[in-house]
Amino acid sequence: MFSYRHAFHAGNHADVLKHLVLVQLLRYFAQKDAPYWYVDTHAGAGIYALEGDWAGKNAEFETGIARLWTRDDLPGIVAEYVDEIAAFNEDDLLRHYPGSPFIAAQALRERDRLRLFELHPTEIDVLRRNCRQLGREIERHTMIYAADGFEGVKALLPPPTRRGIVLIDPSYEDKRDYTRVLQCLEEGLKRFATGCFAIWYPQVQRLESQQLAGRLARVPGRSWLHVSLTVRKPSGDGLGLYGSGMFIVNPPWVLESALKEIMPWLTGVLAQDAGATFTLESREG
Ligand code: SAM
Repeated sequence: MFSYRHAFHAGNHADVLKHLVLVQLLRYFAQKDAPYWYVDTHAGAGIYALEGDWAGKNAEFETGIARLWTRDDLPGIVAEYVDEIAAFNEDDLLRHYPGSPFIAAQALRERDRLRLFELHPTEIDVLRRNCRQLGREIERHTMIYAADGFEGVKALLPPPTRRGIVLIDPSYEDKRDYTRVLQCLEEGLKRFATGCFAIWYPQVQRLESQQLAGRLARVPGRSWLHVSLTVRKPSGDGLGLYGSGMFIVNPPWVLESALKEIMPWLTGVLAQDAGATFTLESREG
């Protein structure tokens, strides 16, 4: 479990999908004055240097955010997402990629709260340091827990404000993560039935990955929205990430139409071969 470092993957196609959706959830929650909580069960390091040894190693961002960065024809919510990433970069140069905690920190207002879980012993130190460097503003709003996010989130739900987004974004290196995600959602909904839960999952050649969205869809009673982006055909050796999905329970109702508008375009731009495609489906609660 502790071999995973998100820096290798920062800004790749999967981050693009995840963070594009996250930006919309945060914007939607900020439309009302009432404060909300943002809980990240698997926070990572917060922000990543794309020129560093980690992200530079495989340069996964080159087939993700970099394909959007220089374009002047970004549609709708893609432009809003790229604007958020641009706020962490100067002079139009793509040097840093913010992770979910920093994207959320940027969106939060005075009375909103940020709650971050990170279990990796090195990653948590980097996250704390990065948050300190971002300035006092973020720290006032923020609690960082060196703890298991699947377990720890239970104690935070429901948030006192009764408004909240929970991002569940494990690395799935441990295949038990697939089951734990489902349990985390079920237990989360028992405590906070109206909460917005966003679950990211990888498309890899593993039965648990292919079954996860179907298992999440059977969670009774709540509305959900499911978007997936496949960037290439699964490889012959059975290895590698060929796409990803976001499953959102209690989504903002406007999100589906916004995604419908941009997914054909985004799939074309992030395609790596003729296997690129997307799905978008939903259920009313
Ligand atoms: N959410 C981040 C983002 O979008 O920028 C990326 C998170 S990364 C996919 C998953 C992170 O979860 C890794 O940093 C890993 O160390 C951490 N992790 C793994 N198991 C965990 C657990 N049970 N609880 C909390 N963090 C965990």
